Amino acid sequence: MNPPLIRHWSLPGGLFAALLAMAVAGCRGELEHASDMYAFGTIVEVRLWGAEPERAQRAMADLQQMFQRMHRDWHAWEAGRLTDLNKAFAEGRSVEAPADIVEMVRRSRHYESLTEGRFNPAIGGLIALWGFHTSTFPVTGPPPSRAQVEALLAGRPSSLDISVSGLQVHSSNPHVQLDFGGIAKGFAVDLAIGHLRELGIENAIVNAGGDLRAMGDHGDRPWRVAIRQPGGGVIGAVEVVGDESLFTSGNYERFRAQGASRYPHILDPRTGWPAEDLASVTVITSEGTLADVAATALIVAGPDDWPEVARALALDQVLVIDAAGTVHLTPAMAERVRFVEDVERRIIDLPGV
Ligand code: ADP
Ligand code: MG
Repeated sequence: MNPPLIRHWSLPGGLFAALLAMAVAGCRGELEHASDMYAFGTIVEVRLWGAEPERAQRAMADLQQMFQRMHRDWHAWEAGRLTDLNKAFAEGRSVEAPADIVEMVRRSRHYESLTEGRFNPAIGGLIALWGFHTSTFPVTGPPPSRAQVEALLAGRPSSLDISVSGLQVHSSNPHVQLDFGGIAKGFAVDLAIGHLRELGIENAIVNAGGDLRAMGDHGDRPWRVAIRQPGGGVIGAVEVVGDESLFTSGNYERFRAQGASRYPHILDPRTGWPAEDLASVTVITSEGTLADVAATALIVAGPDDWPEVARALALDQVLVIDAAGTVHLTPAMAERVRFVEDVERRIIDLPGV
């Protein structure tokens, strides 16, 4: 039932091979679609594999718009829906929020409880005090005074102070200032992958500067992704198949510098001071939201408590680089990382696993 194919058989062998090679090359070109977008201070690279060109184009246009809107609505210090919300909290008013912000509040409440306050997106006031509401790093100059930090801690801001009813949100605590810097990228890649799936796309990777979620595969092979390491560069790589997210948080890229002292941008909400005992944490799990939150929370948990917090979050694939550069990793993570060079590493069993 396929006359053109039958006609091919009568072509001289060499010509047939050449045509076949052209067809494969053409297909390959069309099989991969790549587009860069910008959000949350990073380039988001989207790659699709095996989608029809029209569908791929539509998907890229939709994602461009989604990332633009999320960037605008969720911005922690440029005027928008989130700053409106924070203003309402400070004034004790209820306010209507976009559905995605409401959902992030719900997820935040859940994860703040599970991490016993190590992840706490209500500390926007502290983050601003440290000067981290900026796109330009490093921030320079002396840290805030202990008295200033204590004054903000005394307000005990927590996402658990926020109540949600439909799209109406209200904070019982005027000191709550939401900053979604530790969850936004994860939630955004989940929404992006979800939308691609709705459009019928099966193979994709959404990569926000090394923090990513992937689904399906790259046709003939799995998606291959790098694990970043402190000081730049790559410590190893993993193959991602099916539906997985990989997120890294570190204390090395964004910080305040004064003389030889460095104050990284992830704060321990319980002390108001930067968490600086771990250099980086990489988490692999299916959802981007959890991977993002977990990477931040484990940095705060530090060298002694990270296994316990990983356990509380039901993670099994974690890689931690401590301040001395030693790599600690769970057995499930060790099974899949291919290190670029011989690094000193220790396998850590999570409690109760
Ligand atoms: P990155 O921005 O490098 O991906 P993270 O995902 O760890 O790193 O997010 C860090 C950001 O999260 C900070 O810039 C700040 O906006 C916010 N943040 C800092 N400390 C906390 C914390 N303990 N809990 C929740 N959010 C935090
Ligand atoms: Mg995070």
